[in-house]
Amino acid sequence: MNPRTRKFLSYYKPYLKLLVLDLLCAVVTSAITLAFPLCVRYITKNILETKAPDALNQIYLVGAGMLVLIVVQTLCNFFLDYQGHMMGTLMESDMRAELFEHYQKLSFRFYDNQKTGQLMNRITIDTYAIGEFCHHAPEDFLFAALKFFGAFVILLSINVPMTLIVISFLLVMAAYAFHFNRIMNSALRASKDRIGDINAQAEDSLAGVRVVQSFANEEIEAQKFALENRRYVASMRIENSSQAIFSNGMTAFTQLLTVVAVVCGGVGILRGALDLPNLLAYLLYIGILIEPIRSALNVLRVYQEGKTGFDRFAEMLEVEQDVKDLPNAVDVEQVLGNVVFAGVSFKYSERGDDVLKNISLDIRAGEFVALVGASGVGKTTLCSLIPRFYEVDEGQISLDGKDIREISLRSLRRNIGVVQQETYLFAGTVAENIGYGKRDANREEIVEAAKRANAHDFISALPNGYDSDIGQRGVKLSGGQKQRLSIARVFLKDPRVLIFDEATSSLDNESEKAVQESFEKLSDNRTTLVIAHRLSTIRHADRILVMTQNGVDEQGTHDELLALRGTYAKLYDMQLKI
Ligand code: ADP
Ligand code: MG
Repeated sequence: MNPRTRKFLSYYKPYLKLLVLDLLCAVVTSAITLAFPLCVRYITKNILETKAPDALNQIYLVGAGMLVLIVVQTLCNFFLDYQGHMMGTLMESDMRAELFEHYQKLSFRFYDNQKTGQLMNRITIDTYAIGEFCHHAPEDFLFAALKFFGAFVILLSINVPMTLIVISFLLVMAAYAFHFNRIMNSALRASKDRIGDINAQAEDSLAGVRVVQSFANEEIEAQKFALENRRYVASMRIENSSQAIFSNGMTAFTQLLTVVAVVCGGVGILRGALDLPNLLAYLLYIGILIEPIRSALNVLRVYQEGKTGFDRFAEMLEVEQDVKDLPNAVDVEQVLGNVVFAGVSFKYSERGDDVLKNISLDIRAGEFVALVGASGVGKTTLCSLIPRFYEVDEGQISLDGKDIREISLRSLRRNIGVVQQETYLFAGTVAENIGYGKRDANREEIVEAAKRANAHDFISALPNGYDSDIGQRGVKLSGGQKQRLSIARVFLKDPRVLIFDEATSSLDNESEKAVQESFEKLSDNRTTLVIAHRLSTIRHADRILVMTQNGVDEQGTHDELLALRGTYAKLYDMQLKI
């Protein structure tokens, strides 16, 4: 069995009981459907034709029996529609949860190359299609098979030559269905991808709506969107046309089949090969026989959507987690914070150039180290290797003498706090966002962290204080306020190693001062690596590393580096002039 099929079947496991009941109900309803024409034939042939003396009673009796069958069938159908669909929904939610958990484990490298809209699509639309499929597939196939073969056998028992004509007709129909189904498949996959593109495009434009409006570029965004929209229409044109040809062709075939049956049956009666009750039963059974074929469109559609949905879902699940715990990874508790780079090289893509080449660094526990250099030399990259956001290509990084690959990701990252230039805050309240730094932090701890981050005063001035809503991504706060919240968050986390990536460079002077102050408090007693934009803010650093394309070019204290009259001195002079 192919691994994907096995994976798919495994989702049925928790719901086997439900599945069995579901299939049982499908068997019962199919059997009752098949029994009905037999009842009709019994009335017409055995009661009406023979003119039995107790005919009236017999008719009532058969009628009552049919009533019971209807009740049973309705109950079974109710179960199928309700519990059967619930089974699909539960399986769908299982898959969704699994995919979400998987997403969370994938590394920065994965997200660098993905569009959020597409990822969301897989978690909503695709899993929904699979849910439908999970429920419908087993039941509908069983329905179709039972009804088709049941009706076929009964038809044969009524009249063999006529049935053979009907069957050869059906073969043509099947070939037709098969052909158009193939075309529909690829069209379906294409339109699914296009919907994903539309989502991704809308997500991008809407997330950046403030930039769009500030540039008055609504038109450009509308054009980008229109492009995706047109591509969608083009793909749907193929899907809709092939579907129209398919479904109307099928309808025409079924009507033709009835004509064939009526004509053949009429001829049969004239020749004495068939009687009227049998023709009546025959026509009723042909209705049952073609029902699965007529509904094949729906079944195949659900099947196709489920299959493409599952393929897209499985593709994501099969993405290897490239940064993960080694089998022998250990948890570290409190670390001292001694960070060492030994011959580290790194590049973002296989084919690209090395961003970092053979970097060696030794940062002592508690040391305050500043990283300066032109934009694009790899400062942020260097910092993102320490919490293993990306994996080094060569060399190793160690924390307290232990290779970071041998430390469990959770405990490694618990010990490292990162404050970035672009802070990300979650929709919710101020308290919730600060509390993100420590699970089950109480209000006192949150307020304390805010105070230390110079954020308490502005938070208290908000209409609802700590319970104020900050809007999606914190849009209701200023840049400096957001930055102080993100520092408070790290205060609460209380890591031993701190990385501060140009976190003040986009702020005005006053906010910069407030953030700078709170940051200095935070860096007390911790190993701190700060990427500085303004050199005046790091003059007192224990050590300043100057990065150029060649790696760490110069290092020393501010005064030492000035005396060296090298790259640092040049950078410093330049900033003084501004
Ligand atoms: P700095 O922080 O010193 O300004 P970065 O570390 O951000 O520089 O970037 C170093 C180089 O790596 C740049 O040339 C940049 O284009 C490239 N780079 C940064 N991030 C990525 C990424 N996620 N994928 C591919 N290339 C990247
Ligand atoms: Mg940077």
